Amino acid sequence: MSKRDYYEILGVNKEASADELKKAYRKMAVKYHPDKNPGDAEAEAKFKEVSEAYDILKDEEKRAAYDRFGHAAFQGGGMGRAGGAGAGGFHDPFDIFREAFGGGGGGIFEEFFGGGGGRSSGGAQHGADLRYDLEITLEEAAKGTEKEIRYRRPVECKQCHGSGAEPGSKKVTCPTCGGAGQVTSNRGFISFRQVCPSCQGAGQTIEKPCTSCHGEGRVMDSSTVKVRIPAGVHTGSKLRSAGKGEAGQMGGQAGDLYIIIHVKEHELFERHDDDLFCEVPIKFTLAALGGSINVPTLFGKGNLKIPTGTQTGTTFRLRGQGVPHLRGGGNGDMLIRVQVEVPTKLNNEQKAALESFADACGDAGNPVSESFVEKAKKFFK
Ligand SMILES: [Zn+2]
Ligand SMILES: [Zn+2]
Repeated sequence: MSKRDYYEILGVNKEASADELKKAYRKMAVKYHPDKNPGDAEAEAKFKEVSEAYDILKDEEKRAAYDRFGHAAFQGGGMGRAGGAGAGGFHDPFDIFREAFGGGGGGIFEEFFGGGGGRSSGGAQHGADLRYDLEITLEEAAKGTEKEIRYRRPVECKQCHGSGAEPGSKKVTCPTCGGAGQVTSNRGFISFRQVCPSCQGAGQTIEKPCTSCHGEGRVMDSSTVKVRIPAGVHTGSKLRSAGKGEAGQMGGQAGDLYIIIHVKEHELFERHDDDLFCEVPIKFTLAALGGSINVPTLFGKGNLKIPTGTQTGTTFRLRGQGVPHLRGGGNGDMLIRVQVEVPTKLNNEQKAALESFADACGDAGNPVSESFVEKAKKFFK
């Protein structure tokens, strides 16, 4: 069976404005709505047809595609079917409206339902998760630490224990919906069921709201949480403290608290994964003669052997002196890059000593220069 033209279905011409489309659709939707035509398969099919036509034409982009390519523009599942109202079954007019309006973004949906959103399951609501950004030092990240976090969150009201009812008062059957949790409203010929606005679907309301939380069941309060931070965390590490988020409502579970770690920059060490980099200045005499120096590490002092004739920029590796791996299995390394310092001020005695040293050396004994001179010779010929 070939599909009918969308404009024809809605009874408008191809130049119809958005307003004209909307009016035509509403007229058709009212006429064929299943609530008004119970058990009428033909009306049901018509209702689906107009919904589909309007769904395409109300969207400027889809309408342009339809004008150019016809139904071919939407073949291959372009319509998107919400669960429930498939080929055979036609259960709930709400599902059809979800399908036709894509979940309530469209203007008509809001007009029909007075801005009401989705159905709630009634009552219990899970508390929201919270996020806390925690700054720690590199030392703390490397060694692990324990921190106490103070923050504000909605907690269960102590006066009513979260029920929202003043102590001594009871929950009563909701007078608006008679305990059904849903109400039916009429608009012209169409009647709709919607979540009861008085009890949000719970079917019960509070006789006398709690004076402490005004019936919310929750109050804002400051909370303190102790967090153990394992060694090896890095910026972006996420720790979860279960149940420390916002309290739930009407018996719903509390959310979780997520702690996001930020490791501060360190004055001496630069971290790359679990390795640490550090630049250490050494005297030029030490570089020439060799010896050993103390170097700072996150865990105290380390000893670094400087071989005779060490060049500036040489990097030494101290194994296991980096940050521990978060998942265990040892540490990263410490990488130390030495920078040979040349003295800037010399007294006469020092100057004389260096001059006699220079005389003693002549041109020999400088491996880097020698190889440079070899290479440069071809250019100087
Ligand atoms: Zn309360
Ligand atoms: Zn109610």
